[in-house]
Amino acid sequence: MTIYDKALKILKSYPMCDFCLGRQFSNVSTGTTNKHRGSVIKDFIALSLSEDTIEKSLSELQILSTSNNNLAKNTLKRKGILPENSRKCYICQDTLTKQTESIIQAILPEVENYEFETFLIGTSLPKEFLEREKNLKEEYNVTQTEYLKQEFNRLIGGKVGDLLSKETDFKSPDIVIETSPLTSTIDLKIKSLYIYGRYRKYLRTLPQTRWPCWKCKGRGCDECNHTGKKHQESVEELVEYEALKLTNGYKGVLHGAGREDIDALMLGTGRPFVLEIVNPKVRTIDLLELEESTNEYGKGKIDVSKYRWSSKDELRDLKSAAETTKKKYRALVVFEQSVSEKQINEIEKFFQNRPIDQRTPQRVSHRRSDLVRKKMVFSVQCTRIDETHIEAIITCDGGCYVKELISGDNDRTKPSISEVIGIEATCKELDVLEIQDGSIKA
Ligand SMILES: [Zn+2]
Ligand SMILES: [Zn+2]
Repeated sequence: MTIYDKALKILKSYPMCDFCLGRQFSNVSTGTTNKHRGSVIKDFIALSLSEDTIEKSLSELQILSTSNNNLAKNTLKRKGILPENSRKCYICQDTLTKQTESIIQAILPEVENYEFETFLIGTSLPKEFLEREKNLKEEYNVTQTEYLKQEFNRLIGGKVGDLLSKETDFKSPDIVIETSPLTSTIDLKIKSLYIYGRYRKYLRTLPQTRWPCWKCKGRGCDECNHTGKKHQESVEELVEYEALKLTNGYKGVLHGAGREDIDALMLGTGRPFVLEIVNPKVRTIDLLELEESTNEYGKGKIDVSKYRWSSKDELRDLKSAAETTKKKYRALVVFEQSVSEKQINEIEKFFQNRPIDQRTPQRVSHRRSDLVRKKMVFSVQCTRIDETHIEAIITCDGGCYVKELISGDNDRTKPSISEVIGIEATCKELDVLEIQDGSIKA
């Protein structure tokens, strides 16, 4: 079947705009637009029919007229016949003709507030739109190379890219612009920024992440003095503060490689983390400057180092590596009665590459599933402070609960320091001295 015959056959059943008709023949010729191709095909048919006066030709001109072809309309008028009114395009309901420009005009002021280099257009259309095109393809054996959605994305993306001098990126765009042509609405999805760093913590009252008030769940109540927070500050809030100022982001999320207890210090070279900035308006910032201003802001409470750009992939690796990397702690251990030199030696000797079984501690059982974890204790080195106090330097697997390794947690951790010498022991202070890098690039 010729293009002429096929196009006419389609238009006899379905009125169609220039875009949608042209798209059905998108494999025929390149180097032109669907819109132009569609209008050329309609004009060619109208021209071929223009000198005929037989009934069949007149009705075919009327068919073109319902698909909004001006040449056919004028020819009919010239012949003293009233052309039929245009009907809406069967596939796109005229959205391509009528909505493309307004979508572009809706996008421009929205993205103006964001710094970005790359973007991607997404178009959401009612299911029926796409089904109509699919049915047509089967009915007329169309071998088109593009569909309605792609045409929208390409038209809008091309124009926005030209107007703003930005590139389309299908893999990892800075902004995804979701459009709904039917309602002329758009929705932006901004790629988060990821910053790698290490933090140290110098306060025993500072949680790693935000800690909302348990009673009001953050809304504010008498219990929390209407702050919505159980703890007024966290490492997360101290680390995000300057970053949010520079990026004009919505919020920061601190993803730590594990976490220390609220009352444990984090010392040594610090704990690796990735700071995620959600909805940043500014993407190019000086990380050295950020590191400095963050350290100024967190003075006496926390500091950060090793800042560099990171990614979502690294964030995933960091989380999974945290469970297996070696860690070194300093613990202040208090015994219920005085300990002898012999007993101290016993502890040191016993905990050399010693596997332990740790059932989820009672104190965290409300938020972690109750199971027994196998962990390694590589070494415990003790320094006596007085009769009942020792300082213990403990090297063990990541994810090992050190307070419970000391106390035994009612036999939920076995063996424990308490059990080995038969004297009740508790951890009075805990500091993280070193977190091995593991698979994380330092
Ligand atoms: Zn259409
Ligand atoms: Zn509250």
